[in-house]
Amino acid sequence: MLMQSARPLGELENPTEFLPRHIGIDEADERHMLSVIGEASRRALVESIVPRSIARSRAMRLPPPATEAAALLELRHIARKNQVFRSFIGQGYYGTFTPGVILRNILENPAWYTAYTPYQAEISQGRMEALVNFQTMVCDLTAMPIANASMLDEATAAAEAMTLAKRMVKSKSANFLVAGDCHPQTIEVVQTRAKPLGIQVLLANSAEEWKQLLAGDYFAVLAQYPATSGRIDDLRADVQQAHDKQAAFIVAADLLALTLLVPPGEFGADIVCGTTQRFGMPMGAGGPHAGYLACRDEFKRSMPGRLVGVSVDSHGNPAYRLALQTREQHIRREKATSNICTAQVLPAVVASMYAVYHGPQGLKRIALRVASYTALLAKGLEQLGHKPRREAFFDTLSLHTGEATQNYISRAHAMHLNLRQAWQEYICISLDETTTREDIQRLWQVFATPGQALPDFAAFEKGIEPGIPQALRRTSEFLAHPVFNTHHSETGMLRYLRSLSDKDLALDRSMIPLGSCTMKLNATSEMIPITWPEFAHVHPFAPRDQLQGYAELDEQLRAWLCEATGYAGISLQPNAGSQGEYAGLLAIKAWHESRGQAHRNICLIPSSAHGTNPASAQMAGLQVVVTACDDSGNVDLADLRAKCEKHSGNLACIMITYPSTHGVFEMQVKELCELVHSHGGRVYVDGANMNALVGVAAPGEFGGDVSHLNLHKTFCIPHGGGGPGVGPVCVVEDLVPFLPGHQTGSGIQHAVGAVSAAPWGNAAVLPISWMYCRMMGAEGLTQATEVAILSANYVSARLRDHYPTLYASANGHVAHECILDLRPLKETSGVMAEDVAKRLMDYGFHAPTLSFPVPNTLMVEPTESETLEELDRFCDAMIAIREEVRRIERGEWPQEDNPLKNAPHTAESLLKAEWPHPYARELGAAMADPKTGSGRQLKYWPPVGRVDNVYGDRNLFCSCVPMSAYE
Ligand SMILES: *Cc1c(COP(=O)(O)O)cnc(C)c1O
Repeated sequence: MLMQSARPLGELENPTEFLPRHIGIDEADERHMLSVIGEASRRALVESIVPRSIARSRAMRLPPPATEAAALLELRHIARKNQVFRSFIGQGYYGTFTPGVILRNILENPAWYTAYTPYQAEISQGRMEALVNFQTMVCDLTAMPIANASMLDEATAAAEAMTLAKRMVKSKSANFLVAGDCHPQTIEVVQTRAKPLGIQVLLANSAEEWKQLLAGDYFAVLAQYPATSGRIDDLRADVQQAHDKQAAFIVAADLLALTLLVPPGEFGADIVCGTTQRFGMPMGAGGPHAGYLACRDEFKRSMPGRLVGVSVDSHGNPAYRLALQTREQHIRREKATSNICTAQVLPAVVASMYAVYHGPQGLKRIALRVASYTALLAKGLEQLGHKPRREAFFDTLSLHTGEATQNYISRAHAMHLNLRQAWQEYICISLDETTTREDIQRLWQVFATPGQALPDFAAFEKGIEPGIPQALRRTSEFLAHPVFNTHHSETGMLRYLRSLSDKDLALDRSMIPLGSCTMKLNATSEMIPITWPEFAHVHPFAPRDQLQGYAELDEQLRAWLCEATGYAGISLQPNAGSQGEYAGLLAIKAWHESRGQAHRNICLIPSSAHGTNPASAQMAGLQVVVTACDDSGNVDLADLRAKCEKHSGNLACIMITYPSTHGVFEMQVKELCELVHSHGGRVYVDGANMNALVGVAAPGEFGGDVSHLNLHKTFCIPHGGGGPGVGPVCVVEDLVPFLPGHQTGSGIQHAVGAVSAAPWGNAAVLPISWMYCRMMGAEGLTQATEVAILSANYVSARLRDHYPTLYASANGHVAHECILDLRPLKETSGVMAEDVAKRLMDYGFHAPTLSFPVPNTLMVEPTESETLEELDRFCDAMIAIREEVRRIERGEWPQEDNPLKNAPHTAESLLKAEWPHPYARELGAAMADPKTGSGRQLKYWPPVGRVDNVYGDRNLFCSCVPMSAYE
C-alpha cells in the first residue's frame, strides 16, 4: 500500500494554510487533468506508477503543518537562540555592509534569486553581465588574465587550484606544499581532497620549515596573502623558487586587501583563489558566499567551474554565453577533473554589484579605513603593553598572550566581542568595514589592566599610516571599466539592476520546466528569514554556545530529511549536489577501508547518469565502469550482473539516479540494490529526483546506502541563477561514522575530513528548507510529490500527438518529468530540439532541459507548483510551435528560414524596415496567444538574437566588453 495524503485538495482547515499556496492546482483542475491522462484518481495514478515493492512502510513523522505566520514565529524563536556578537574572528569571514539597494533588489528579489543557471544564453543576458563584471573584478584585483564565475568557497577553491596545478605543471612530484598560516579550514579541505588522489600535503608549520620545504620537491605551493595570522609576506622570491622547479605557485588572497597590496598577478602567481564574502555577503554562519579562482592564460582550458564569455548574436551584436561548454568539467564525465555544477551565482552577483556600487575609489577607501583602524588598534595595544607580533599587516593583528589567552577571550565574550584564539597561545583580531571607533575602544578595554588609562583615540588618529610595507603597496590601477565608475548614485544603481533583471526570464515571469532541476516555488515566507540578523550576522567559528539557533535548525532539518529519505544520518555540510556526491563516495570508501577492503575501487555508473556522478567518483579516487541502459531507458540488469561478477572482488559501489534521469520508476530497483550488495558493494542513490519520491518511497528503505539531496531542487532553495545550493549527504546506520567531519568548526575529527570551508556549509539558506517542511507537514509533502507526478503526466498526455514521450512505464506513464522526443523532426523539417528551445523564448518560456540525458530531446519537469493555466499555456505554446514545424514539413517555409531557425526574435530585428523572411512579423514575435488567437498583452522580448557559441569559443573573451563594441 502506498502512503497517500488522505485529504483531497481544497479541503481547507485554515484560510491561511500554506499547502494550497504551494500547490498550483485545485480539485477541479485535478479532475480535469486526470481525465486527460485517463486515470480515475490521483491515488490510482500514483499507484500505477510507483512500484509496490518500494512503497514506504510508514508515513513520515513530521510536525503538523504550520501556517506561514506561525512557522515564521517559530523560526524567530529559534533564530533568537543565536547570539550576535561583534566578530573580530576573521579567518576568511568578515562583517560587511550589504548596500540596501543590493540587499533588496538582488538578494531579496525573485527576479534574481528564482532564475536558473544561464544555459539558455538569450534569456540570461542580465545575470551573465553581472557575472562578467564579477570575472572582471577578480581579474583586476588579482592582476590575473582570466577568472571564472564563482567557486563554492575559499577552501574548495584552493583544493581545485591544487588539482588544476597538478594537471598543468611539468613537475612530476606528488607533493603539495602548504603554508601553515593558511586558514585552517582551507588546510583541512585541501587535505581531504588530496588524499584520494594520492597527493601528499606537506604542511610548513614555521618559517624555517617553509624555507626548508621550499627547497625540496613539490608540484605546487599554496600560500595565504595576507596570512591567516595577519602577516604579509613578500612572496616574490618564493614564487621564483617554485618556478625554478617547474612547480606552480598558488596564492589564496583577500580581495579587499588587494586594493592596497601588490596583487599576486604582479609577482608571478600561477593561480589565485579566495572568497568574495566581504564584498557585501553577510557571514551567514559560513555561507553562501562566492569563492573565486583566477589563473594564467595557459591554464584556462583546464579550469574548473563556470566561465561566462562574450560572443556575438545572429545580428552581430555582443552577447554573453557560458564559454567553452565542453570545458564545464562535469560534462566530460569520467574524464572530468572537477565536479562543480551548481556554483554560487547569487552571491557572486552581490559581490560584483558591491564593486559596481563602490567603484575602485570606494573600495580603496573601505580598505584604507580598515587598514588604518588596524594600525590604530595596534598602536593602542602597544601602549597597553601588548605589542602585536608583526610590523606589517592589513586588517589582522596577532598577539602572543600565552597563559592569559583564555582570560582575554572570556573578557571579550562578556563584552559581546568575539576574538580568535589561534595556536593555543595567540589571539588574532581582524577588523572589517563595519568596525567603529567604539569597537576599537572596547578592544583596548579587553586588554587594559584594571585602572590602566585607555589610549586617546583622537591623538592617535592623526597621521596614522596603514601597516603595509612600502615595497608591497599597490601602484597599479584596477576596475577602470565604466561599469565600475558609473552607477554610484542609488538611483543609478537601482536602474542598472532593474535593466539587467528585465533582460532575464526567471520564475517570477513564467514556468521553468527544467527536467532534473526541479524549479518549484520559492515561497516568499521561506525566503524572508535568510536576511534576519540572527541568521545573517554570525561567524561560522563563533563559540558553539552562540550558535544554538543554528544548531537547533540543523538538528530539526536533519531529522525531517531523515524521515523523508529513510536514512539514519545526514550532514548538511556539502555546498551543492556534486559536493554531496563526493562526500557520500568518500564515506563508502572510508567504510571499505575500515574493513580492510581498501582495494575496492570500482564505481559502476549507468550511461544515463548525470555528469557529476562520474566526475565525483573520479575525484574520490574511484575507477568508473559504465553500465548499459536498455531500449526503454532502464539499467540493463544483465549487463550490470556481468559487470558485478567481473569486478566482484573490487566493487566499491554503484551510483544510480532514482527515478532515473529517463523519467521512469524502474521496477527492478530493489533487485538491483540486492545484486550490488551481494557483491560487497554499496548503493549510492542520486537524490536529485527526490521530488518524485518524498512521502511515497524512501531510498534508505528500498536499498540505498547513501544519497545526496539537492535542497535547491526538492526543498525549495531557489536556484539563484546557478547557485547557491545545498547538497546534504544522507547515509544508513553503519555509514554514519563516515560522514564528513570539521575539525576547525567543531573540533571533532572524523574518518572523513571536511568537504566545505564551514561546518554547516551554506548555513544561511537552510531556513528556506526548514520553512518549507514546517509549513507543508508530512501529508503536504506527499501531496506535493503526487501533484508533481500528476502534472508531468498531464503534460506528457497533452503533448502526446505532437511530441511523443521517449520513455514511459508499461502503462504509458512517467514519473515527475518526461522526455519529449524531437529527434524525428530533424529528418522531416531540419528542426532540432535547440530550435524549439529558442522558439519557446518568443512565446515567453524558458526551455526545458535540452539534450540531457538524450541528445536532441527536451526534458520537461513541470513541478507541483504550477497552475493548470500555466501548464496549459506551456502546452499550447509547444503545440503552436509543432504547427510551425508542420508548415516547414509541408514546404511552406524553407528549412533554413523560418520562425524556429530565426528564434529568438528581438524587437529590433522585427522593427527593421527590411523584412526578408517568408512569414509575418507578428508571427515571428509570437504575438498571437496560442490558445485564443488574440493579441498578447504581456510579451517578453528577448534582448539578443541567437548567440553564436562557436565564435565565442574561438575568440575567448571573458571580461567586461569595451564600450566601443556597442558603437
Ligand atoms: C542537479 C543534479 C546533480 C548535481 O547537483 P548540483 O547541485 O548542481 O551540484 C547531480 N545529479 C543529478 C541527477 C542532478 O539533476
